[in-house]
Amino acid sequence: MSLAGKTAIVTGAAQGIGRAIAETLAHAGADVAVADLDLGRSQDTVTAITKMGRRALNIKVNVADWNDAKAMVDQVVKEWGKVDILVNNAGITRDGLLLRMKEEDWNLVLQVNLNGTFNCTKAALQPMSKQRSGRIVNIASIVGVIGNAGQANYAASKAAVIGFTKSVAREYASRAVTVNAVAPGFIDTAMTQQLSADVKETLSKQIPLGRLGQPSDVAEAVKFLASDEAGYITGHVLHVNGGMHMA
Ligand code: NAP
Repeated sequence: MSLAGKTAIVTGAAQGIGRAIAETLAHAGADVAVADLDLGRSQDTVTAITKMGRRALNIKVNVADWNDAKAMVDQVVKEWGKVDILVNNAGITRDGLLLRMKEEDWNLVLQVNLNGTFNCTKAALQPMSKQRSGRIVNIASIVGVIGNAGQANYAASKAAVIGFTKSVAREYASRAVTVNAVAPGFIDTAMTQQLSADVKETLSKQIPLGRLGQPSDVAEAVKFLASDEAGYITGHVLHVNGGMHMA
């Protein structure tokens, strides 16, 4: 499965799942724009990609800001002439039980996870429509499908990303742009490292494969959906959760 000659944008690629996706796409041959809030923190991902002999761009973006998202896509088109792949991975949590959840935490999670996906997708669809080809992969979550106490804001944002994915898939199929989602279960990153050992142990018992996922487990699924081989798949939600939820 080769991505040679393709250009990709991965948001939230400084660390965790986004970094694994950026490096996996580069390993398969793509040039990758590493987009995150902090240029300094993205530098390790950029260095790893250039060491593979691929081109990388280090782009500072707040996905919640339309102007940033548009400037990010414009820069990639200016430097590389096209955008073949967009991975909407940037995401945050601000957990709390609903009665204690502050309105600002509700809004911030929606702004980054949902509005960010809208902004970057809308910006990338402009060149992709003209090219009459493209791959968009949105990182959702198992929590957007089955819910989770203490994560009403996050669950709502990720369920919305799934509805968004299916709608945009229908809209842009005629332009040969596919739009899919990957829904990870519990993956070992900074986002889950705050969980206590006890909670991780309890979670692992609910996962038939008996372990938390690794960022590379998610990255390989994204690579497939970004490839030419996945050209007849659109509007799909690919679960990568060790069997914790079987859709
Ligand atoms: P992570 O380790 O926290 O990494 C997320 C990256 O996104 C960070 O570099 C973060 O920067 C960046 N980011 C945050 N807000 C941003 C914004 N407004 N604009 C641009 N970049 C932004 O998280 P992760 O665990 O790798 O999660 C990646 C994605 O997978 C998220 O969408 C998450 O919801 C989803 N997911 C994760 C899990 C899991 O178990 N880990 C499960 C299901 C789904 P800062 O660090 O500076 O904020």
